[in-house]
Amino acid sequence: MLEQLKKWDLAKSNYEALKQVETKELNVNGAKFIVQFNPARIVSSGAKVDAKSIRDRACFLCEENRPKLQKGLDFGEHYTILINPFPIFPKHFTIVDVKHVPQLIAGRFGDMLDLAEYMDDYVIFYNGPKCGASAPDHAHFQAGNRGFLPIEKGWKNHIVVKKDENLSLINYGFPAFVIEALSKKRCICLFEKIYEALPVKEGDTEPKMNILTWCEAKHFTAVIIPRAKHRPDCFFAKGDENILISPASVDLGGVFITPLEKDFEKITIKNVAKVLKEVCLSEKEYYDIIKNLAG
Ligand SMILES: [Zn+2]
Repeated sequence: MLEQLKKWDLAKSNYEALKQVETKELNVNGAKFIVQFNPARIVSSGAKVDAKSIRDRACFLCEENRPKLQKGLDFGEHYTILINPFPIFPKHFTIVDVKHVPQLIAGRFGDMLDLAEYMDDYVIFYNGPKCGASAPDHAHFQAGNRGFLPIEKGWKNHIVVKKDENLSLINYGFPAFVIEALSKKRCICLFEKIYEALPVKEGDTEPKMNILTWCEAKHFTAVIIPRAKHRPDCFFAKGDENILISPASVDLGGVFITPLEKDFEKITIKNVAKVLKEVCLSEKEYYDIIKNLAG
Protein backbone atom coordinates (compact mmCIF):
# COMPACT_ATOMS: atom_id res chain seq x y z
CA MET A 1 0.00 0.00 0.00
CA LEU A 2 2.75 2.43 0.93
CA GLU A 3 4.23 2.06 -2.57
CA GLN A 4 1.27 4.10 -3.78
CA LEU A 5 2.36 7.10 -1.75
CA LYS A 6 5.54 7.25 -3.84
CA LYS A 7 3.77 7.23 -7.19
CA TRP A 8 0.40 8.83 -6.54
CA ASP A 9 1.08 12.55 -6.45
CA LEU A 10 -2.25 13.69 -5.02
CA ALA A 11 -2.08 11.31 -2.05
CA LYS A 12 1.64 11.91 -1.60
CA SER A 13 1.32 15.69 -1.41
CA ASN A 14 -1.69 15.51 0.92
CA TYR A 15 0.13 13.14 3.32
CA GLU A 16 3.22 15.37 3.18
CA ALA A 17 1.08 18.46 3.88
CA LEU A 18 -0.49 16.71 6.86
CA LYS A 19 2.91 16.67 8.59
CA GLN A 20 2.86 20.46 8.74
CA VAL A 21 -0.80 20.83 9.54
CA GLU A 22 -1.66 23.44 12.18
CA THR A 23 -3.61 22.40 15.26
CA LYS A 24 -4.87 23.97 18.45
CA GLU A 25 -6.37 22.43 21.56
CA LEU A 26 -9.68 23.39 23.17
CA ASN A 27 -11.14 22.07 26.40
CA VAL A 28 -14.88 21.72 25.86
CA ASN A 29 -16.85 20.82 29.01
CA GLY A 30 -13.84 18.93 30.32
CA ALA A 31 -13.32 17.01 27.06
CA LYS A 32 -10.26 17.51 24.89
CA PHE A 33 -10.86 18.71 21.34
CA ILE A 34 -8.11 19.36 18.82
CA VAL A 35 -8.87 21.73 15.95
CA GLN A 36 -7.02 20.76 12.77
CA PHE A 37 -6.61 23.28 9.93
CA ASN A 38 -6.74 20.92 6.95
CA PRO A 39 -7.35 22.66 3.58
CA ALA A 40 -7.45 19.38 1.57
CA ARG A 41 -10.57 18.31 3.47
CA ILE A 42 -12.68 20.95 1.75
CA VAL A 43 -13.64 18.13 -0.66
CA SER A 44 -15.45 16.40 2.17
CA SER A 45 -16.57 19.23 4.48
CA GLY A 46 -17.90 21.26 1.56
CA ALA A 47 -19.23 18.23 -0.37
CA LYS A 48 -22.66 18.54 -1.92
CA VAL A 49 -24.55 15.51 -0.66
CA ASP A 50 -28.07 16.32 -1.84
CA ALA A 51 -29.77 13.64 -3.94
CA LYS A 52 -29.39 15.53 -7.24
CA SER A 53 -25.68 16.33 -6.82
CA ILE A 54 -25.03 12.69 -5.90
CA ARG A 55 -26.97 11.44 -8.94
CA ASP A 56 -25.11 13.79 -11.27
CA ARG A 57 -21.57 12.84 -10.30
CA ALA A 58 -19.53 9.72 -11.02
CA CYS A 59 -19.08 7.81 -7.75
CA PHE A 60 -15.46 8.18 -6.58
CA LEU A 61 -15.62 4.93 -4.57
CA CYS A 62 -16.59 2.72 -7.53
CA GLU A 63 -13.64 0.84 -8.96
CA GLU A 64 -14.18 2.06 -12.52
CA ASN A 65 -13.97 5.71 -11.44
CA ARG A 66 -11.07 5.40 -9.01
CA PRO A 67 -7.62 6.66 -9.98
CA LYS A 68 -5.55 3.85 -11.52
CA LEU A 69 -2.88 4.43 -8.88
CA GLN A 70 -5.30 3.77 -6.03
CA LYS A 71 -4.73 0.05 -5.61
CA GLY A 72 -6.91 -1.84 -3.17
CA LEU A 73 -6.44 -4.71 -0.77
CA ASP A 74 -9.29 -7.23 -0.52
CA PHE A 75 -10.95 -7.68 2.83
CA GLY A 76 -13.56 -10.34 3.60
CA GLU A 77 -15.92 -11.31 0.85
CA HIS A 78 -16.96 -7.92 -0.44
CA TYR A 79 -14.71 -5.12 0.76
CA THR A 80 -11.63 -3.35 -0.58
CA ILE A 81 -9.24 -1.35 1.62
CA LEU A 82 -7.98 1.84 -0.07
CA ILE A 83 -5.61 4.64 0.92
CA ASN A 84 -7.66 7.77 1.63
CA PRO A 85 -6.08 10.46 -0.56
CA PHE A 86 -7.47 13.26 1.68
CA PRO A 87 -6.09 12.23 5.08
CA ILE A 88 -6.86 13.53 8.55
CA PHE A 89 -4.84 10.78 10.29
CA PRO A 90 -1.18 10.07 9.50
CA LYS A 91 -2.50 6.66 8.36
CA HIS A 92 -5.96 6.91 6.86
CA PHE A 93 -7.87 4.31 4.84
CA THR A 94 -11.31 3.99 3.28
CA ILE A 95 -12.86 0.53 3.20
CA VAL A 96 -15.42 0.27 0.43
CA ASP A 97 -17.96 -2.33 -0.57
CA VAL A 98 -17.07 -3.76 -3.97
CA LYS A 99 -20.63 -2.98 -5.08
CA HIS A 100 -22.25 0.42 -5.49
CA VAL A 101 -24.87 -0.01 -2.74
CA PRO A 102 -26.18 2.69 -0.36
CA GLN A 103 -24.45 3.63 2.86
CA LEU A 104 -26.42 1.79 5.57
CA ILE A 105 -25.23 0.24 8.81
CA ALA A 106 -27.95 -2.43 9.06
CA GLY A 107 -26.25 -5.80 8.68
CA ARG A 108 -22.76 -4.25 8.60
CA PHE A 109 -21.91 -3.57 12.24
CA GLY A 110 -20.37 -7.06 12.48
CA ASP A 111 -18.18 -6.21 9.46
CA MET A 112 -16.94 -3.15 11.36
CA LEU A 113 -15.94 -5.39 14.27
CA ASP A 114 -14.20 -7.80 11.88
CA LEU A 115 -12.26 -4.87 10.46
CA ALA A 116 -11.41 -3.57 13.93
CA GLU A 117 -10.03 -7.01 14.79
CA TYR A 118 -8.05 -7.27 11.53
CA MET A 119 -6.75 -3.68 11.68
CA ASP A 120 -6.17 -3.53 15.41
CA ASP A 121 -3.84 -0.52 15.17
CA TYR A 122 -6.77 1.48 13.79
CA VAL A 123 -10.05 3.02 14.83
CA ILE A 124 -12.74 2.00 12.33
CA PHE A 125 -15.49 4.55 11.84
CA TYR A 126 -18.82 4.91 10.10
CA ASN A 127 -20.54 8.11 9.03
CA GLY A 128 -24.23 7.71 8.30
CA PRO A 129 -25.57 8.83 4.89
CA LYS A 130 -26.71 12.12 6.44
CA CYS A 131 -24.01 12.34 9.10
CA GLY A 132 -20.88 13.23 7.20
CA ALA A 133 -20.51 10.49 4.56
CA SER A 134 -19.42 12.24 1.37
CA ALA A 135 -20.51 9.16 -0.62
CA PRO A 136 -23.94 8.37 0.88
CA ASP A 137 -24.67 6.22 -2.18
CA HIS A 138 -21.74 3.81 -1.74
CA ALA A 139 -21.28 1.75 1.45
CA HIS A 140 -17.95 2.41 3.17
CA PHE A 141 -16.09 2.72 6.46
CA GLN A 142 -12.89 4.56 7.24
CA ALA A 143 -9.89 3.63 9.37
CA GLY A 144 -7.44 5.97 11.09
CA ASN A 145 -4.44 5.02 13.22
CA ARG A 146 -5.12 4.62 16.94
CA GLY A 147 -3.81 7.07 19.52
CA PHE A 148 -5.02 10.04 17.47
CA LEU A 149 -8.61 10.70 18.52
CA PRO A 150 -8.97 12.02 22.09
CA ILE A 151 -12.22 10.10 22.67
CA GLU A 152 -10.39 6.78 22.41
CA LYS A 153 -8.90 7.20 25.89
CA GLY A 154 -11.01 10.13 27.06
CA TRP A 155 -14.50 8.59 27.02
CA LYS A 156 -13.93 6.77 30.30
CA ASN A 157 -13.76 10.11 32.10
CA HIS A 158 -17.23 10.97 30.83
CA ILE A 159 -19.30 7.98 31.93
CA VAL A 160 -22.68 9.11 33.25
CA VAL A 161 -24.14 5.68 33.98
CA LYS A 162 -22.77 2.19 33.55
CA LYS A 163 -25.86 0.22 32.54
CA ASP A 164 -24.01 -3.07 32.86
CA GLU A 165 -20.50 -4.36 32.27
CA ASN A 166 -20.97 -4.04 28.49
CA LEU A 167 -22.84 -0.76 28.10
CA SER A 168 -22.03 2.75 29.34
CA LEU A 169 -23.84 6.01 28.76
CA ILE A 170 -21.44 8.89 28.33
CA ASN A 171 -21.57 12.65 27.93
CA TYR A 172 -18.61 13.90 25.90
CA GLY A 173 -20.19 17.30 25.31
CA PHE A 174 -22.88 15.21 23.62
CA PRO A 175 -24.65 12.03 24.74
CA ALA A 176 -23.47 8.70 23.35
CA PHE A 177 -23.44 4.96 24.03
CA VAL A 178 -20.29 2.90 24.55
CA ILE A 179 -20.37 -0.86 24.07
CA GLU A 180 -17.45 -2.89 25.43
CA ALA A 181 -17.21 -6.65 25.16
CA LEU A 182 -14.94 -9.54 24.35
CA SER A 183 -17.67 -11.19 22.36
CA LYS A 184 -18.60 -9.85 18.91
CA LYS A 185 -22.01 -11.44 19.32
CA ARG A 186 -22.67 -9.47 22.49
CA CYS A 187 -21.55 -6.23 20.78
CA ILE A 188 -23.84 -6.86 17.82
CA CYS A 189 -26.77 -7.69 20.09
CA LEU A 190 -26.34 -4.44 22.06
CA PHE A 191 -25.86 -2.44 18.88
CA GLU A 192 -29.07 -3.82 17.45
CA LYS A 193 -30.97 -2.85 20.60
CA ILE A 194 -29.66 0.72 20.37
CA TYR A 195 -30.39 0.85 16.62
CA GLU A 196 -33.98 -0.27 17.23
CA ALA A 197 -34.47 2.31 19.98
CA LEU A 198 -33.28 5.24 17.83
CA PRO A 199 -35.84 7.27 15.89
CA VAL A 200 -35.78 7.36 12.07
CA LYS A 201 -36.69 10.83 10.81
CA GLU A 202 -38.95 11.29 7.81
CA GLY A 203 -36.97 10.99 4.57
CA ASP A 204 -34.11 9.11 6.26
CA THR A 205 -33.09 5.54 5.52
CA GLU A 206 -31.75 4.80 9.02
CA PRO A 207 -31.36 6.50 12.42
CA LYS A 208 -28.79 9.28 12.12
CA MET A 209 -25.52 8.19 13.72
CA ASN A 210 -21.75 8.04 13.76
CA ILE A 211 -19.89 5.00 15.06
CA LEU A 212 -16.26 4.54 16.12
CA THR A 213 -14.90 1.15 17.05
CA TRP A 214 -11.58 -0.45 17.88
CA CYS A 215 -10.20 -3.70 19.23
CA GLU A 216 -7.46 -4.13 21.79
CA ALA A 217 -6.32 -7.54 23.00
CA LYS A 218 -9.52 -9.08 21.54
CA HIS A 219 -11.59 -6.57 23.52
CA PHE A 220 -13.98 -4.49 21.40
CA THR A 221 -15.06 -0.93 22.14
CA ALA A 222 -17.71 0.85 20.07
CA VAL A 223 -18.92 4.42 20.54
CA ILE A 224 -22.37 5.02 19.04
CA ILE A 225 -23.25 8.68 18.64
CA PRO A 226 -26.89 9.38 17.75
CA ARG A 227 -27.28 12.55 15.69
CA ALA A 228 -29.98 15.20 15.47
CA LYS A 229 -28.79 16.73 12.21
CA HIS A 230 -25.95 16.77 9.72
CA ARG A 231 -24.64 20.32 9.46
CA PRO A 232 -24.84 23.03 12.14
CA ASP A 233 -26.38 26.48 11.59
CA CYS A 234 -22.93 28.10 11.38
CA PHE A 235 -22.23 26.05 8.21
CA PHE A 236 -25.02 27.96 6.42
CA ALA A 237 -24.59 31.33 8.19
CA LYS A 238 -23.43 34.38 6.26
CA GLY A 239 -20.65 36.78 7.19
CA ASP A 240 -18.78 36.55 10.48
CA GLU A 241 -21.09 33.88 11.86
CA ASN A 242 -20.07 31.43 9.13
CA ILE A 243 -17.85 28.48 10.09
CA LEU A 244 -17.38 25.77 7.49
CA ILE A 245 -17.54 22.71 9.67
CA SER A 246 -19.37 19.51 8.78
CA PRO A 247 -19.10 17.23 11.81
CA ALA A 248 -18.66 13.49 11.41
CA SER A 249 -17.06 10.69 13.46
CA VAL A 250 -13.61 12.28 13.56
CA ASP A 251 -14.88 15.67 14.76
CA LEU A 252 -17.04 14.05 17.45
CA GLY A 253 -14.09 11.84 18.35
CA GLY A 254 -12.26 15.02 19.32
CA VAL A 255 -10.52 16.28 16.17
CA PHE A 256 -12.48 19.17 14.65
CA ILE A 257 -11.58 19.73 11.02
CA THR A 258 -11.59 23.28 9.67
CA PRO A 259 -10.64 23.39 5.97
CA LEU A 260 -10.57 27.22 5.99
CA GLU A 261 -7.92 29.25 7.81
CA LYS A 262 -10.39 31.97 8.86
CA ASP A 263 -12.36 29.34 10.79
CA PHE A 264 -9.30 27.73 12.33
CA GLU A 265 -8.23 31.14 13.68
CA LYS A 266 -11.57 32.18 15.11
CA ILE A 267 -13.19 28.97 16.35
CA THR A 268 -13.66 29.01 20.14
CA ILE A 269 -14.70 26.60 22.89
CA LYS A 270 -18.14 28.19 22.75
CA ASN A 271 -18.46 27.51 19.00
CA VAL A 272 -17.49 23.85 19.40
CA ALA A 273 -19.88 23.38 22.34
CA LYS A 274 -22.71 24.94 20.32
CA VAL A 275 -22.02 22.74 17.28
CA LEU A 276 -21.99 19.60 19.45
CA LYS A 277 -25.28 20.58 21.05
CA GLU A 278 -26.91 21.24 17.70
CA VAL A 279 -25.85 18.18 15.76
CA CYS A 280 -26.23 15.64 18.57
CA LEU A 281 -29.19 14.73 20.74
CA SER A 282 -30.59 16.78 23.61
CA GLU A 283 -30.64 15.09 27.03
CA LYS A 284 -34.38 14.68 26.77
CA GLU A 285 -34.21 12.91 23.39
CA TYR A 286 -31.38 10.75 24.71
CA TYR A 287 -33.27 9.68 27.85
CA ASP A 288 -36.37 8.93 25.77
CA ILE A 289 -34.24 6.53 23.73
CA ILE A 290 -32.81 4.93 26.85
CA LYS A 291 -36.37 4.28 28.03
CA ASN A 292 -36.96 2.47 24.73
CA LEU A 293 -33.92 0.23 25.18
CA ALA A 294 -35.32 -3.15 25.92
CA GLY A 295 -33.81 -5.37 28.59
ZN1 LIG B 1 -19.96 3.78 -6.11
